[in-house]
Amino acid sequence: MYSYAGKIAKIDLSKRKVVLEETPKEYLKNYIGGSGLAARILRNKISKETNPLGSENVLLFMTGPLTGTPAPSCGRYCVCSKSPLTSIWGESNSGGKFGPFLKFAGYDGVYIKGRADKLVYLSIIDGEIEIRNAGYLKGMNTYETQKVLTEEIGLKNLSIACIGLAGENLVKYASIMNDGGRAAGRTGMGAVMGAKNLKAVIVSGHKEMKLAKPKKFKEVVEKAVEEIKENLLTSLYYNVGTAGGVDMLQELGDMPNKYFTEGIFSEASKISGAEISEKILVRNQHCYGCPIGCGKIIKIPKGRYKLPETDGPEYETVAAFGSLILNNSLEGLAYANYLCNSYGLDTISCGSTIAFAIYLYQQNKLSKEETEGLELEWGNIGQVIELIKLIAERKGFGKILAEGSRYIAEKKGLKGFAAEVKGLEVPYHDPRAFFGMAICYATSPRGACHLQGDMYLIDLGQEIPELNIFSGDRFNLKGRIETVIKAQNWRSIYNSLIMCQFSNPNPKLIVSMLNYATGFSYSLKGLLSAGSKIFNLKRLINFNLGISAKDDYLPEIFKQPLQGGTQGKTPKIEEHLKNYYRLRKWDPKTGKPLEEQP
Ligand code: SF4
Repeated sequence: MYSYAGKIAKIDLSKRKVVLEETPKEYLKNYIGGSGLAARILRNKISKETNPLGSENVLLFMTGPLTGTPAPSCGRYCVCSKSPLTSIWGESNSGGKFGPFLKFAGYDGVYIKGRADKLVYLSIIDGEIEIRNAGYLKGMNTYETQKVLTEEIGLKNLSIACIGLAGENLVKYASIMNDGGRAAGRTGMGAVMGAKNLKAVIVSGHKEMKLAKPKKFKEVVEKAVEEIKENLLTSLYYNVGTAGGVDMLQELGDMPNKYFTEGIFSEASKISGAEISEKILVRNQHCYGCPIGCGKIIKIPKGRYKLPETDGPEYETVAAFGSLILNNSLEGLAYANYLCNSYGLDTISCGSTIAFAIYLYQQNKLSKEETEGLELEWGNIGQVIELIKLIAERKGFGKILAEGSRYIAEKKGLKGFAAEVKGLEVPYHDPRAFFGMAICYATSPRGACHLQGDMYLIDLGQEIPELNIFSGDRFNLKGRIETVIKAQNWRSIYNSLIMCQFSNPNPKLIVSMLNYATGFSYSLKGLLSAGSKIFNLKRLINFNLGISAKDDYLPEIFKQPLQGGTQGKTPKIEEHLKNYYRLRKWDPKTGKPLEEQP
């Protein structure tokens, strides 16, 4: 098997048993790797009856066929399971070097079921797997956990994925952190680890990936790297990070303010990527094999929000703890980001849940009694920092916030009012600014997701002519549904490879890299239809978990017109969804994919 490690480790934590299985060759052509292959493997392993936090749930760490090869921006891993936040398909991916190191350790993936009777960590070094006591790591934050294990193991080439207090306390949107502050943030995979009493997975090894056509692969990789470096967005991401577009996104009404209820935040430039680079940046950071290096290491030498050298906030976090709560303190939001990373919390869901609570409180829909004495207010980052602590510790009002915004909305009889779809908080690209995002959020397999069809980037000019994906009127869905579907299918391939979505060389180069690495003979069209198959498979899994057409919606909050860049426009998706279903071949009543899956 070229470019795959060829093995998946199956670990039963209850029985403390490890079984090695061959990576299922028969699925690779259709499901590739990453979250596509994970969906095929988990298809019949999770059901309506599976308690996401029960020992019966399965947690699958997966790599892709290009992980650990010199292919650019492919050093990622994903982790998939039934989500405790949404009770449907959960997936999240992260950069750093954990993915490649897992493959060098000899495995394409690690399949974990059961529950250890006490806190443990998994050691996977050069093929050898051990389940080790982690009692002494209990309650330790993710940075400290990585430091202690790195010193203890003493290997140079080591990568660690772990949880912090939030995962141990089963916060529904707990993340898994690796390589410092890299996060598999979304859908609560950290809580699944916590429920299994699994504190960390450490990986290291020396296995080399054999490639089908190494010489040709090298040539195409060089071309792809060249193209990535020439891309204008690459220099933006390098110079000012993913938050580099804050001012422009504010102008367009894409970046949300005051829990999606105001069109303009006049202080936004104080929290932009340019400010990060000018005021607190120490250096850039690259994930394994990535020529872009969008990561930012920052330092705040003094003051209330003093921080040692640590990971800086990405765009989503800047929005979550900046404009969404009307905070203009860059240092404050950087501190909130640091806390979330330390505790292992998804900044998107955490920020959104807190902002929803402030919104309700300010509207007199949440009382001081319910917040346990807290007077929630806009723009108070100090208060938000205290709330983050309460969430991770599951103390006071934090116990409620730890359940996510849908839980709060349902408890208050306000279902549909929180900015979430299928239970997953909407990320920070307002669908009123790019109507295509409204369809993506309504239909994506893990709920509101910006990594499964990035229509905001396409309508900003990131066209893919080879796939017939072109920009269009950002406020008009007419004639655009096919583009949305193609964008979703293409990103399904990215999530299977697993390739970073900030990296966009010509798709033909991606096909060649994949073929020369694996020895398969995908055409571009064939790869895109594999993307469609993968997307539909995840939909089928969700259908079996109880999702139907009624769950494909846009929250009420996005039906309110706003001043500013969205020009008072709001997307109406119902008619377009019918078209979407027709093109996807989904049953219009149930939303079930009609084509038989192999
Ligand atoms: S673009 Fe940024 S997040 Fe993506 S792989 Fe490169 S360094 Fe990592």
